[in-house]
This record gives sequence, structure tokens and C-alpha cells, in this order.
Amino acid sequence: VLLGLRVGVPHLAVDLTGLEEPLAALGIEGARFGEVRETAARLPYEETGIVAQARSLVDWHARHGYCPNCGQPTRPGEGGSMRSCGACKAQHFPRTDPVVIMAVWRDDRILLGRRRGGAGSFYSTLAGFIDQGETIEDAVRREVLEESGIVVDEVRYHTSQPWPFPSSLMIGCFAHATSFESQADDVEMEDVRWFTREEARRAVEAPGPELGFAIPGAIAIAHHLIKAWASE
Ligand SMILES: [Zn+2]
Repeated sequence: VLLGLRVGVPHLAVDLTGLEEPLAALGIEGARFGEVRETAARLPYEETGIVAQARSLVDWHARHGYCPNCGQPTRPGEGGSMRSCGACKAQHFPRTDPVVIMAVWRDDRILLGRRRGGAGSFYSTLAGFIDQGETIEDAVRREVLEESGIVVDEVRYHTSQPWPFPSSLMIGCFAHATSFESQADDVEMEDVRWFTREEARRAVEAPGPELGFAIPGAIAIAHHLIKAWASE
């Protein structure tokens, strides 16, 4: 898959999933495979976008071998930026799934939640996929109501981040709660809790077990939303 040119140098992504010993097969020495999230956390900002693009595109090709229109096999084209169907001639392009992720706040408190199946003391901002026919604001209000029982009025966009697991765009917002009365959704959430600005600040600046809870690391947009709110 051709990702593009950077300072005149073509960048390509190759799916090596089928190879037993990919490094030996390609004759590459002094390299090793690393987990995407860990590796991306150590890369300069401009290079994380390349990793995200490569991860999403390789994954998209792996999952789109058949035409959703007629069920026949598809073939990659145009340097891997699309796939086309030999039978019905339909062209298919990679898509991005928008997800809203929001820091819900009121006065000097921020609402964070713990997902079912998540690690013990790990709290993060609420999040969810945007449904068909919804605006960003609609999705923020619906997700917050579903996951925490809280009614949100003002929604403010903050920042966004590609999240290639497999192909999401995280749209980070601040959402103002109309009350403190929360009720966690039993299906998705283990717990939702209000934290003070001081607690949020400590979780960003000096995380540790004595705090009793932890927030996502700096690779995640949740971290930056909490940090931005904590330092307001
Ligand atoms: Zn087709």
C-alpha cells in the first residue's frame, strides 16, 4: 500500500501477516516488531500519523476481500487507496468511523467512567460511535445520557485524533452537565464518578497508586481532554 511521499521519499505499508519469519524472509537485520500503541507513543508527532494511516489501510484491505455489493472478490487498485470489484465494477474506498469522546464537567468537577471489563482503577472520559443521522452534538448528548444518566446542554469541540484500531476518528469535546446526579449504565459501565479539578490535575501530573485511580496515557486523546480541563 502506497501511503504517500514525504520529502520525496515514498512510504509504503506491507502486510506481513502470512509470513512465519518476516524479518528473515525480507533479509532485514537489527529490527524488531513492536506493539503499535507502545511504539507510536515514542514517535515524533509527524510520524504517528503515518503509523495510523498504515495500520488502518492494511487492516481495511485485510477485511475487504469481497464486494459488499455483490459478494465477489475485490482487487486493490491505485496504489492501495481503493479496491474494485471485477464482477459488478463497484469501487470501494476506506472509511473512517467517527467517535465522540467527551469530558463532562460541571463547576469544579469532571465526570469519568470505568468500562466493564476494563482494568481496576482506570477511569476515562465517556465515548461512543456517532450513529447515522446524528450531529456531533447529538451523539455527545445521547452517549452521556446513556452511559451516565446525565443531561448535557452546551457541547464544545476541543480537538480530534485518528485512532487506527481499526479506523476511528476520535472527536474530543467538552460537555456541560445540567446536574451532578449520575446513574451508570449497567451494561457498558462499571462505574461513573465525579472527580475534583485537583484530583484530575494530580492524575495528569503525578500519577501513582496512592491516588486511587488512573487515567489513560498521553497517546490517548482522553488524556489531553482531562489535562486541558484540569489546567483551565
Ligand atoms: Zn461487486
